[in-house]
Amino acid sequence: MITTVTLNAAIDKTYIIPGFNLNSLHRAEQMNATAGGKGINVARVIRTLGEDVIATGFVAGFNGMAISEKLRQEGIPSDFITVEGESRLCLNVIDPEGGTQTELLEAGPSIPAEAIESMKERIAKLASHSSHVVFSGSLPKGCQLGLYAELITIARGAGAIPVLDTSGEALVEGIAARPYLIKPNEHEVVKLTDGNAEEEDDIKSALLRLAKQGIANVVVSLGERGALSAMDKQLFRVSIPRIDAVNAVGSGDSMVAGLVVADKRALPAEERLKLGAACGTANALMPSAGMVRLEDVEALKQQIQVETLL
Ligand code: ATP
Repeated sequence: MITTVTLNAAIDKTYIIPGFNLNSLHRAEQMNATAGGKGINVARVIRTLGEDVIATGFVAGFNGMAISEKLRQEGIPSDFITVEGESRLCLNVIDPEGGTQTELLEAGPSIPAEAIESMKERIAKLASHSSHVVFSGSLPKGCQLGLYAELITIARGAGAIPVLDTSGEALVEGIAARPYLIKPNEHEVVKLTDGNAEEEDDIKSALLRLAKQGIANVVVSLGERGALSAMDKQLFRVSIPRIDAVNAVGSGDSMVAGLVVADKRALPAEERLKLGAACGTANALMPSAGMVRLEDVEALKQQIQVETLL
């Protein structure tokens, strides 16, 4: 199985509000609430792709109970640690008329030291039954910046392949433990390297530097422009078809799910990148974050080009 870790789980609420404006009253006629947080999105897409998965992390309060219940209803096995406080509510307001998307993200609970120790034990136990352990998202309050590096080392020690998808300082500290795969976007890769890594050449140099640091697989996702990747000691460009995107929130998580499932199936690099990009793009076709339809994934895979650059 594959374990996904969401240290800051959330209820993701999406409102579709045509003509959304600041300073005015709106009634949301369409509302969708799902269990979220990046690792939970990854788990959902892994499940859709047909692999066994278990979601762990921290939950708290009524929202925490709702997260566990929603996962149960979706048939996604979970093994969360409950802490005091309230899990986050993350609001995403989409205005299809104005073409805008506004996100409001709560901070979530603070994690006490003893719960962090329990999480280390939980990861060791789950990793011993898993091919991969995927760590996704921000670190909640109470967690030290080096926590992902520690958890990655624990997962690897228990025999699983560690994957890290986070940002900012948590990513900088996390890569010290050399996760097997990271999926920064272009802004995140800037923070990992000293350069101005927004141009393609800068991203390519950043990819090569990260590969030299011992991170075997780096995928820099570029939204509707596809991705660039260093994988199996080669450099690739991934081109995706133009689509009418509905909601791209969770596309990065869906991409991670595709990459990990393809890795578990021991597919060659080009096929791993195709499945990853197809899942990311399929997610952008759905109104809800972190959700794909298998038929979209299959159709998109046929339209994605992977070019070897080096
Ligand atoms: P998030 O943090 O919301 O999960 P991200 O910034 O980590 O997203 P993106 O680069 O936005 O990740 O998206 C990952 C992949 O999903 C892209 O490489 C691409 O294949 C697909 N994708 C994302 N946005 C679009 C879009 N608007 N149209 C088509 N495909 C998209």
